[in-house]
Amino acid sequence: MKITQVKALGLRCQSPVMSDAMSVCKARQALWIKIETDTDLYGLGEAFTFGSPLVVARHIVEDQLAPALIGEDPRHIEQLWQRMFWRNVPNGRTGLVMGCISGIDIALWDLAGKMNGVPVCQLMGIHSNKVPAYASGGFYAPGKDLDALKKEIEGYLEKGYSDVKIKIGRTPDLPGCAVGYTASREFSVTYEEDLDRIRTARKTMGKTGRLAADINAAWPAKAVVQAAGDFSEAGLNILEEPILFEDVKGLQAIRAAMPGISVMGYETTQGVRNFARLISEDTMDIVQPDIGWGGGFSEVRRIASVAEGFSKPVSLHSFGSCVHFAASLQLAASLPNTEAIESEENPNVLKTGLLSAPFEHDERMNYLVPQEPGLGIRIDWDKVARVRIF
Ligand SMILES: [Mg+2]
Repeated sequence: MKITQVKALGLRCQSPVMSDAMSVCKARQALWIKIETDTDLYGLGEAFTFGSPLVVARHIVEDQLAPALIGEDPRHIEQLWQRMFWRNVPNGRTGLVMGCISGIDIALWDLAGKMNGVPVCQLMGIHSNKVPAYASGGFYAPGKDLDALKKEIEGYLEKGYSDVKIKIGRTPDLPGCAVGYTASREFSVTYEEDLDRIRTARKTMGKTGRLAADINAAWPAKAVVQAAGDFSEAGLNILEEPILFEDVKGLQAIRAAMPGISVMGYETTQGVRNFARLISEDTMDIVQPDIGWGGGFSEVRRIASVAEGFSKPVSLHSFGSCVHFAASLQLAASLPNTEAIESEENPNVLKTGLLSAPFEHDERMNYLVPQEPGLGIRIDWDKVARVRIF
């Protein structure tokens, strides 16, 4: 079997306006990668782009990375991964190029699963057929008050979730906060209002369940350290990406300041070497790579192995389309140290509206790993056609 084409597919749909600390979202987009072969089989993957223009990623996939793949045997996944990495080290070891390498790697593993007639988790060795999930939401939105946040979280609990994540940190008046550098300060809050959001979430959840809050690296370390007591008192259990991951000393100070709160990160980090350094420097309690950004199945499995070597749990970040979520489920199901997976609950057609059959879960929101060959899902290409922009 030989690879004949590597294509990028751009998807975009409208979204209700919502924001985290650092960005306002009005539309959702995804970059899918389709690897075609000289047989009827193809592989499908997704590169996470963190909002970059999709056309930039398209050129990286089709002009920069595809030449290393065309004419090659798609079964040689590790060989192809290393070629893509080493041929692009100066400009591609991190950033959008690594995101595109990740998406290609996912497509190669999807294809490998289809060739063998089994889901990817079976190729990798199944650890569990169910993956625990937490509800990821709690965004800021125009006119969204504490009562609306409460109702949102009540909905998650009714669905069966016990753990919930909300967004905090959209506090431009906090000294050193990076929100002032973003394009919009719409519906930002004060520090006290943010604490009320945490308190509201905790009160709604009661004494059970873990509450996480994500700052999206908007704050400086000093502000997070100073907030440690307030966070603890408000009932927070997990703090996600509080500051830039490059500030190792700051992360260590944060962990020392909040022994009762687990620090989780860092979805923006890529590659096993970067994660290995951060894990060995004791900057996190829960390791949270993204399969579509951090290096695909091949590299994120290595990241999880490093985490296992330091007895750290893995909680995969997932904020993409159905392809990204399916890939995350397949990987999570094969890891011994999977703690949970992020289950985004915002309305997102790209995640819930493009499949022939929805993702399945039990009454406690443990996801059943989809069992079709490859990523396990069946795409409804007619529905995809409605959201394709290229
Ligand atoms: Mg995050």
